Formats: sequence, structure tokens, C-alpha cells
Amino acid sequence: MDISVVVPLYNEAESLPELTEWIRQVMNKNAFSYEIILVDDGSDDDSWPVIETLKTEHAEIVGIKFRRNYGKSAALNVGFEAAQGNVVITMDADLQDSPDEIPELYRRIREENFDLVSGWKQKRYDPLTKTIPTKFFNAVTRSMSGIKNLHDFNCGLKAYRRDVVKSIEVYGEMHRYIPVIAKWAGFKKIGEQVVEHRARKYGTTKFGFSRFINGFLDLLSIFFVGKFAKRPMHFFGSLGVISFITGTLIALWIIGQKLYHIAYHIRYTREVTDQPLFYIALVAIVVGFQLFLTGFIAELVSRNAPERNNYQIEKTL
Ligand code: UDP
Ligand code: MG
Repeated sequence: MDISVVVPLYNEAESLPELTEWIRQVMNKNAFSYEIILVDDGSDDDSWPVIETLKTEHAEIVGIKFRRNYGKSAALNVGFEAAQGNVVITMDADLQDSPDEIPELYRRIREENFDLVSGWKQKRYDPLTKTIPTKFFNAVTRSMSGIKNLHDFNCGLKAYRRDVVKSIEVYGEMHRYIPVIAKWAGFKKIGEQVVEHRARKYGTTKFGFSRFINGFLDLLSIFFVGKFAKRPMHFFGSLGVISFITGTLIALWIIGQKLYHIAYHIRYTREVTDQPLFYIALVAIVVGFQLFLTGFIAELVSRNAPERNNYQIEKTL
């Protein structure tokens, strides 16, 4: 099979017939073999009955229904597990992404050998309250992840080589950072394509202001998990040791000074407890010790994690 289109959806009943029909036209025109995986993320509207009806007349549709709303990342993850195509395309159900982009995305994965091609909604039809924070977000993500060439990490329209979706896990609200997750997993050829973006035709957006707060926290955890999850001691331990040694040296210096004064009967002008340095030394020793312990406990936890020896193997001979 050439293409799997994975569509996460939550209360998008009105859009579905138009969306699937449009995808069908594009696929037939290009003679692709395909499937459309519609993942109903626990909708309360008529989305599932609509999917059932569509399925009767359109055999390429695969429907998956969650019992409750788990979120877009969960829906994508399940769609990825089910996908059989060589190229997997994700798109939103709200008709903001255009299926006309599919052939070009497919071509870039197959012929230009990209692992992942992300859409870039260069001209957006969203309110300013959304587009301005998004710019900031993308800039932060770009510099933290080292993926310099992406402008729009959270674009719903993306194309993946099959290996990519089978080797990554998307949970929580991590769908915003799939390119980062893919990069950590070792997929380096990540490209971008300017795509057409349209105003939402039916329904309303499913993400409110919380998207910015959650998005930022997720970025931090992605960064730490990716960098240190397998070796927490290197992070906490090194900071802890530095802090502990600094504190100890300062303390020794203060004690040495005091002993020196006593030994040579020099009048001591300032008590040890009157010196700010003394308190700095105390804090540094305590904090250092705690950081070290944190690293040690994290190390024990990660040693017990079932996936501690999961490595991505690309090829064996
Ligand atoms: N979505 C989902 N589960 C959710 C929230 C959203 O599957 O809990 C789907 C939604 O139906 C749509 C896509 O994710 O297909 C993007 O959502 P939306 O268009 O509301 O986001 P926006 O375009 O405002 O970023
Ligand atoms: Mg949308």
C-alpha cells in the first residue's frame, strides 16, 4: 500500500464526508493505493455514525473509536500503530489542511528520501491571539531541538516514512513535537513544505489557552527525557558534585582562616557566622548533596524501566 492517511478527530461530524471525498479524488487521480484511518477520539456528536455510513460506500476507510476523549496525541499514536502504507500522512479533520498537498509530500518522502516532511502554514487563517504565541513557540523549539529548518512544528499536516511512525511513541500532548521525537529517535532527514491553510469551515477549535502552558511544559520534558532519561546521574550528579565540592572548599577556607588566626593569636575581627560566604558554603553543600541523591534515585528508577535497553536498530547484516 502506498499511503495511509491518519486523521485524528474529535466532534468533526460535518467535515468528514467532504474530507474523505476530497482525499478519495486526490488518490484516484494519482492512482495511489491507500487507506484513510479515521480515529474518533471519543466524540460526543455524530462523528462515529457518520464514519460508519462513509465506510459502507468507501472501502478504503478504516474507523477506530475511542471510548472516551484521550487527546490528539493518543489518537495519532493508535493511528500510527494501525497504518500499513509506505508513507503515512497525518492531517486534521477540520478541512484546514488540504488533501491536494498529499502527492507532493509523498514524492518528497519516496524520491528525495526524507524521513519526515512537515507542513508549514506560511499564510495562516487563525486569530492573532494564536499566531503570535505560536511564532514564539516555534522559535524556542527550534533552538532547543536543533532542528533549524522547521517553522511550524505543530502543523497537523505531515508526512512520514513508515519506519518513523513505527518507531516513535506520541503521548500526552507531544503531538506538537513529533519532529523533535523523531530526531531523538535518529531520523535526521527532516524537511518542510509550504502548505495551503484554510479557515475552519465547521465546528470550533478543540484547544484553548491551555495549549501554551502545556506546550511549554511538554517541551521541557521532551528535552530532558530525550537528553537525560537514560543517564540521569550524568546530569544531576555532575551538578551535585560541582556544588558540593565548591561548598566544601569554601568551608575549609573559612575554617582554615579561623585556625590560622587562633594559632598566631591574631585578633579575629569577624566571626565565622557573620560572613555571607559561610552561608553560601552551607547552601552549596546541602544542595549539592540533594542533587546527587536525586540523580542516584533517578538512576535506580531508570534502571528498572522496562524500555531501558530499547535501542533503535536501523539495519543488521
Ligand atoms: N482533536 C482530537 N482530539 C482532541 C482535540 C482535537 O482528535 O482532543 C483533533 C481535531 O478533531 C482536529 C485536530 O485534532 O482534527 C486539530 O484540532 P483543532 O483543529 O481543534 O486544532 P487547531 O487547528 O485549532 O490547532
Ligand atoms: Mg484546526
